[in-house]
Amino acid sequence: MVLWNQATILKLLWAVTKEKESLWIKWLQVYYMKGQSVEVCSIPTNATWVLRKIVEVQKIILNTQHLQGDLNSRLALMVHNGRFSIKKMYISLLPIYQKMPWKSIVLHPIIHPRFKFTCWLDAWQRVATADRLLKIGIHVPLECSFCNNAMETVEHLFFDWTITKDLWARLLIWLGFTRSIDGWKNELLWVNAQAKGTSGKGALVSCYFVTLVALLWRERNKIRFEQGQLQVDKFLREIAYHLHVRAQTRPRWKAALTLIVGIP
Ligand SMILES: [Zn+2]
Repeated sequence: MVLWNQATILKLLWAVTKEKESLWIKWLQVYYMKGQSVEVCSIPTNATWVLRKIVEVQKIILNTQHLQGDLNSRLALMVHNGRFSIKKMYISLLPIYQKMPWKSIVLHPIIHPRFKFTCWLDAWQRVATADRLLKIGIHVPLECSFCNNAMETVEHLFFDWTITKDLWARLLIWLGFTRSIDGWKNELLWVNAQAKGTSGKGALVSCYFVTLVALLWRERNKIRFEQGQLQVDKFLREIAYHLHVRAQTRPRWKAALTLIVGIP
């Protein structure tokens, strides 16, 4: 609502800069602007608040980072068929949120919500890995629970550590993909692109990825807190089983799964 009001006032400012025929604009120009441009004129504090608002609102459009140029050229961008578009102005004032390259994964309807949440935490680097805990002042053993050979970070777990790299490679080969595995960010991008696809296979591979990420974190917790041990074959079978169960309600998935034989 605040932004919409600002956009409405910016329309009035545009009318002033265009010297539109209107009594109040004439009044503003004669009494306050006195031949000066709106950028340099100063409105006394005893002037009516509406006039002050109109002149002050230029700060908002001048501070909008994705618009270029001086006041007039910024206002000109909002003109459509000779009229100032409040809607266009409003959209330009909306904050631009950081793009989420994993959006398609997180919004995928078939992936288990709890698994998506873990993957989402990993994507934002908000999962409680040792390096993250250290940053917020919590001291825990820094070594990776699986290999004790490196600091525990999201990047180490996915896929600097050779075991997860192998696990992911086995799942990919099983699903019929031949490609070399990169680091966490690039794999996330690749999987996200797959999740956008309409083929059952694209959906399957993104679901396997998220399940792998989420269940590996569960295994990590087991090792860290219960002295568990990762059993690779059993772990892969669990992922495959989970996906078969989830696919039962989706015909396209089922069709894609029938083309895949054996276990990863
Ligand atoms: Zn490790």
